[in-house]
Amino acid sequence: MGMPSYGFGFNVNEFNKFFGTKVGGYGDVLRSDAKKYYGAVVGIAGRGESIARKENYCEIDPSTVDEFGIPVLKFHYQWSQLEINQAKHMQDTFEEILVNMGGEPLGDKPGKEINYGLHNPGRIIHEVGTTRMGDDPRTSVTNKYQQLHDVDNVFIVDAGPFVSQADKNCTWTILALSMRASEYIVEQLKQQNI
Ligand SMILES: Cc1cc2nc3c(=O)[nH]c(=O)nc-3n(C[C@H](O)[C@H](O)[C@H](O)COP(=O)(O)OP(=O)(O)OC[C@H]3O[C@@H](n4cnc5c(N)ncnc54)[C@H](O)[C@@H]3O)c2cc1C
Repeated sequence: MGMPSYGFGFNVNEFNKFFGTKVGGYGDVLRSDAKKYYGAVVGIAGRGESIARKENYCEIDPSTVDEFGIPVLKFHYQWSQLEINQAKHMQDTFEEILVNMGGEPLGDKPGKEINYGLHNPGRIIHEVGTTRMGDDPRTSVTNKYQQLHDVDNVFIVDAGPFVSQADKNCTWTILALSMRASEYIVEQLKQQNI
């Protein structure tokens, strides 16, 4: 949520079109429109969980390299019906909240044809995963302490071991997992296991 605003930069009297009144103008008209809409417009954005699915994966690109000649990653990632359902649920919930507040939804509600407004995968730029953690070495890279299943003294203490991207920002979880891994490393070192 932000402070009540006039909508500077967005042409405040553009809101008039939603109520069938005149768009445009300056001087007194613009001033009265700014007063009319000040503090009266709210927006809601949603985030959901990107579900862990084996169909989504990345691989080393066979042909594209970065500026240093290192092959880049190639991503294969699509939303499933589960994420699309989350987006629909959010849109419906937002509408319910706004209408019950006495508000009037402005603009068109994103529908099925555009996945209820769901952005493309990766748009939120919360890069996590690819070296997923798990108990089974056949389906995961690290154990729950972010220690490689295959090499005892290698730990991945970044966002690589995430198995999914939750609706929350990832950095606190990166820190919490790193702390757990650090405590485990100290304990294992004392026991001379690593
Ligand atoms: C603009 C932006 C805003 C964000 N805002 C938030 C936020 O508010 N809250 C939040 O929780 N998250 C936020 N995120 C997401 C968060 O920053 C990432 O999820 C997190 O940084 C991932 O951590 P990481 O250590 O796994 O990877 P990174 O931080 O990406 O670290 C990877 C490191 O590996 C290095 N590297 C890559 N390839 C090689 C190579 N071949 N050799 C050597 N080094 C290499 C890179 O230079 C980099 O330093 C944001 C991300 C972006 C891009």
